Amino acid sequence: MNLQQLGQVRHDWETAEVQALFDMPFNDLLFHAQTVHRQNFDPNEVQVSTLLSIKTGACPEDCKYCPQSGHYTTDLDKEKLMKVEKVLEQARKAKEIGSTRFCMGAAWRSPTKKDMPYVIQMIQGVKEMGMETCMTLGMLDEDQSQELAEAGLDYYNHNLDTSPEFYGNIITTRTYADRLNTIDNVRKAGMKVCSGGILGMGETELDRAGMLIQLANMPQQPESVPINMLVRVEGTPFAENEELDPIDFIRTIAVARIMMPESHVRLSAGREEMTDEMQALAFFAGANSIFYGEKLLTTANPRAENDQKLFERLGINPERRCEKHSEEAQEAALMNAVESQQQDKMFYDASV
Ligand code: SF4
Repeated sequence: MNLQQLGQVRHDWETAEVQALFDMPFNDLLFHAQTVHRQNFDPNEVQVSTLLSIKTGACPEDCKYCPQSGHYTTDLDKEKLMKVEKVLEQARKAKEIGSTRFCMGAAWRSPTKKDMPYVIQMIQGVKEMGMETCMTLGMLDEDQSQELAEAGLDYYNHNLDTSPEFYGNIITTRTYADRLNTIDNVRKAGMKVCSGGILGMGETELDRAGMLIQLANMPQQPESVPINMLVRVEGTPFAENEELDPIDFIRTIAVARIMMPESHVRLSAGREEMTDEMQALAFFAGANSIFYGEKLLTTANPRAENDQKLFERLGINPERRCEKHSEEAQEAALMNAVESQQQDKMFYDASV
């Protein structure tokens, strides 16, 4: 590829040049990714979000990686839609421990008419606390997208998961086009897009390239790009999948950083299984967003204490996006995180 173009936001990525990025010697790739990262971000800042499952399990979709799918038998405790006040209580706690964005996820094919008023109250309540809001509720039509945007929703998460070619091996109950359509509706309604995928599902490097091309070549690149590492949950069809090579994971982060220079690249599911060294390398490769808190939807997430220690060891500061949250307050909040997390075992109580 033409290295002169490094760091430019482009929407015309082709397979051969993305493949060339994947084929680069690891150190060269990381050097370029870090260079691009520094052109757009403070390299020592990581954005911190908290994710709460507001409705857990019994999902009608058949995503083969997902313990929330009603198609598979897993140990997951199913929960109905959480009460609004309970969600807001968790959002307050997330703010106290330094999160600037509160993400709420529901295991739905798409929200029903009956659910929307509750979801809207949740958005409005979290916004009033001065936090950014994000939701992942499944597919959205134009009207639903508009309603959520009007309620104040900042981000909508809807992952592409993988390449269009590999997609049929993972999900049969919704199409790739359905996914792109939802993302399109979200954009039209004026919300920011959070969209990425999962590595370790049996896809090839070409599939990883294909997924990143889909994301980067959107008319507007997603503001947030979660790169997940498959969590092999017992009972799901992917439980026995081969372990992902950590170097391949880091390589994909670096390629994502180069292709989407202005997006936040997020370490999401699978972080629990990553060593500190692997996370450090991921930050060097251009990842600059994590989920913070005890659980990431339904799989374990490294405890706040570990995150806090790792940030300190690496000299990383949480990105300050929330105007109402002063630097000192945020620092103090993070320092207190260990204590508050230890005292409060209720952080991820998804009871109704
Ligand atoms: S990934 Fe989402 S849509 Fe797919 S089964 Fe899980 S909760 Fe449902």
